[in-house]
Amino acid sequence: MRIIDHYINGMSVPGKGVFLPVEDPSVGTAVAQVPMATKEERDLAILSCQNAGAEWSQTPPQKRSRVLFRFLEKLQSKKETLAKLISEEHGKTYRDALGEVSRGVEVVEFACGIPQLLKGDYSHQIGTGVDSWSMRPPVGICLGVTPFNFPAMVPMWMVPIALACGNTFILKPSEQVPGCAHHLASLLSECGLPPGVFNVVYGGKETVDFFLQDRRIDAVSFVGSTPVAESLYRKGSQSGKRIQALGGAKNHLIVMPDADIDLTVDALMTSAFGAAGERCMAISVAVAVGALAEPLVDKLSKKISNLRIGPGLANDPENDMGPLISREHLNKVIGYITAGIEEGAELVVDGRQLPYVKNSAGHFLGGCLFDKVTPDMRIYREEIFGPVLCVVRVDDFHSAINLVNQHEFANGAVIFTRSGEVAREFSHHIAAGMVGINVPIPVPMAFHSFGGWKRSLFGPLHVHGPEGIRFFTRLKTITSRWPQSGLLDQGYAMPTM
Ligand code: NAD
Repeated sequence: MRIIDHYINGMSVPGKGVFLPVEDPSVGTAVAQVPMATKEERDLAILSCQNAGAEWSQTPPQKRSRVLFRFLEKLQSKKETLAKLISEEHGKTYRDALGEVSRGVEVVEFACGIPQLLKGDYSHQIGTGVDSWSMRPPVGICLGVTPFNFPAMVPMWMVPIALACGNTFILKPSEQVPGCAHHLASLLSECGLPPGVFNVVYGGKETVDFFLQDRRIDAVSFVGSTPVAESLYRKGSQSGKRIQALGGAKNHLIVMPDADIDLTVDALMTSAFGAAGERCMAISVAVAVGALAEPLVDKLSKKISNLRIGPGLANDPENDMGPLISREHLNKVIGYITAGIEEGAELVVDGRQLPYVKNSAGHFLGGCLFDKVTPDMRIYREEIFGPVLCVVRVDDFHSAINLVNQHEFANGAVIFTRSGEVAREFSHHIAAGMVGINVPIPVPMAFHSFGGWKRSLFGPLHVHGPEGIRFFTRLKTITSRWPQSGLLDQGYAMPTM
């Protein structure tokens, strides 16, 4: 069994606290042990950041980005190793895990261009003999707290940009999928990152609370569920930190009567059931407009019944969907299915009944389809985070927009239509951070920024892209005058031109 170490000050540090088992969710047994950080280990990580920060923040940006260029090469050569590790600890299919690593690598590519992106503005002669210019120095010591569902990609939304901007960083990954973070840290060291610039500390709520209260930490980037995001945002802000906290989601896909139905069904299948629905950009509600609902439900139910369920690492044949992360989470999702039936929704496909699901010790659930879901039901209002797609029927386009815009979550929203006019109106009036038009999972590329609205994001700035750079730097504006002769004659009034 693997014993996972913290990674502090450029080296593996064996945990001295309590250990938790890390399960392979495909078989339901432990494959590793992860330490929960002690106070001394957390302190050591902060101290390492402090010691390394003075030099790293003053290292020329192009030298920092050279470390990331080397990291990029390393990551490309280790993609398969990382994907296998993710698949083992998380359960997602190997191909999906490879895709996740690639999306993370794209952020490293973006961060390699940091010298260009950190350039400030310059205004010549804003007053007689006066010039003004700006710079973006790093924030200081940053903390990343990441969820179980993307063990490589979500840390890489933050880490490459924070480091390229000159910050030091402590990553507190999900204790359910800890292997990847340690791997990334040791690869960064191999690429020449100075000791202490990037540290990995494992732990749960106690560890996060410790860091939130510590005034030496300057910024926190969080990705996870909404209740934790909201509470972390409050606590961190109270101790003067800048925070971005990305939370949960309930993403809708509106199907207009003119949509290509087969294309839409395929899009719904990948976006609702990829990674067993454990994606913050998964589509969990299909909004069927008009008479299209009947054929949509019919076609979906056939495809869902044929989903191949099994271990993520199986390759002969490959599966479409692996297990859920834990028995506890599986039971929670099953609880939602029971609630949906009790509240009167029609369960068209019941993923609980598959023989494989019933007989496996892994945390498997087949794809589920609910029809005639209404906005008052819990399965509509709350995030299920599993392979459960709800169909809500509405009469027209405006009812569909109203429905989506009234939901408390607003990560992504999508429309499938052949009408440019409808698509344009949708993109202007929909209240969501990431919008798709005939694109089921509208995840922005690394050079744009990722984030939702409403209770899907606490804090003003999205992750990676231009907003990521703003988050991991502070703006400083310098106004300078070099008098050519004589004394300054300003008096006591507000200075003007
Ligand atoms: P989670 O909120 O349970 O955990 C996230 C992180 O916070 C983990 O590192 C965990 O150890 C830590 N944590 C848990 N409880 C805590 C507490 N009380 N105080 C402080 N820290 C705590 O989330 P999860 O189950 O790991 O991940 C799934 C959730 O993440 C879903 O809600 C999903 O929508 C969301 N998510 C959102 C995005 C996004 O971009 N908006 C992306 C990925 C996942």
